[in-house]
Amino acid sequence: MLNDLRKDYLLDRWVVIATHRKQRPRDFLGKERASREISNKRSCPFCPGNERETPPAVLVYLKSRRGIVKGRDEDGVRHKDWLIRCVSNLYPAFSPPEKRESFKSGKAVGHHEVLIESPNHSEHPSVAKIEQLVHVINGYRDRLKDLSSRNYVRYVSIFRNHGADAGASLSHAHSQIIATPTIPRILQNELEASKSYLERDGSCAYCNILDSESGGPREVWENQRYFAFAPSAAVHPFELWIMPKNHETTLLDFDGSSVIKLAEAMRTCLGGLSSLLNDPPYNFGFHIAPVADAKHYHWHLEIYPRLSIWAGFEKSTGMYINVVPPEDSARNLKSTIEKLGD
Ligand SMILES: [Zn+2]
Ligand SMILES: [Zn+2]
Ligand SMILES: [Zn+2]
Repeated sequence: MLNDLRKDYLLDRWVVIATHRKQRPRDFLGKERASREISNKRSCPFCPGNERETPPAVLVYLKSRRGIVKGRDEDGVRHKDWLIRCVSNLYPAFSPPEKRESFKSGKAVGHHEVLIESPNHSEHPSVAKIEQLVHVINGYRDRLKDLSSRNYVRYVSIFRNHGADAGASLSHAHSQIIATPTIPRILQNELEASKSYLERDGSCAYCNILDSESGGPREVWENQRYFAFAPSAAVHPFELWIMPKNHETTLLDFDGSSVIKLAEAMRTCLGGLSSLLNDPPYNFGFHIAPVADAKHYHWHLEIYPRLSIWAGFEKSTGMYINVVPPEDSARNLKSTIEKLGD
C-alpha cells in the first residue's frame, strides 16, 4: 500500500504521510528533553524582582482597583507588580531605524520584543489561568496595533518557542513579537493564494477549510468562536491549527468576549498537547493579515510540536515526511482533551 502524498490547502508544499513508519503518541514520550534552559528562578531575568536585567518595558499591565491599567517603564523606573510585561529583546534580530534615518532597504529595520506572559515563571499557556491568558492575548493586540502603525513595518509576527528543543533559551513563560520591513514568504504565499481563491471561487479559502474539516476525522475541539483541527497536509506530527469561525483577518478584528474564547481554545488545545505528549517542545505562530488590509485573508494560529528532526531530504527539498497521520493525531488529541474535561 502506498503512502499518501498530500498538498497544503493553499501553499505549494507537499508532505508524505508515512503510514508504514507510523508512530504512536507513546513513541514520543520518555525522550530526554534538552535542559539548556535557564530554569533557576533567582537567575531568571523575567521573574519579578529582576526587572532591571531587561530593557525598560514598552508595555506593562498593572492591577488597580478600577481594573487593568496599562503603562510603560520611563525615566529609569521599572514597574513592579505587573501582570504582563513587554520589553525589547536584548539581542534583537530587527531594530528601529535610528533618528532621522528613514527606511533603508537591505537593513533589518523593525522591532523585536519579548512578551513576558506572567509573573509566575512556569505559567505557560498549557497550564495558565484563563484570565492570565486573556492579558497575554490583549498584550499581543496592543503591541500589534502599536507596531503596525510604524511606516517601516509591513508585518508583525507573534510567535512562541516552548522548550529548549524548540529554541527557547529561557524557560520563563514568554512569547516574541517581531515587526519586519517586508512580508515574510509563507505569509506572502498564503495571501496570494487566498486572494486568487477568492477571485476564482468568490469565497474565503479558510472559511471553506473550516466547513470541510468541521465534523470530519481531523477535528480536535471547538467552542462558539474557534475551531481546532489537524491540517490535512500537516508537516509536523501532532500539528494543530486554531481558526476563528467568523471571517476575521487579524487579531484586531474581534472583541473582548472573543478574547476569552480564544484564551479557552489555546489553554484547552495546548493543555491537551502537553498532557498527551508530556509537555513537548513546540513553536506556534499567528498568521494574520499584514498591516495593509487584506480582506480576503483569514487569520489562524499554527502550532508545531517539535518531535521529529528534519534531515537532509526536508532541508534540501522543502518536501516533508510526517510519521503521524493527522487523522491519528486529531483522534488522540481529541480524546485526551475530552478526558481532561471530565
Ligand atoms: Zn522566571
Ligand atoms: Zn474566511
Ligand atoms: Zn498559515
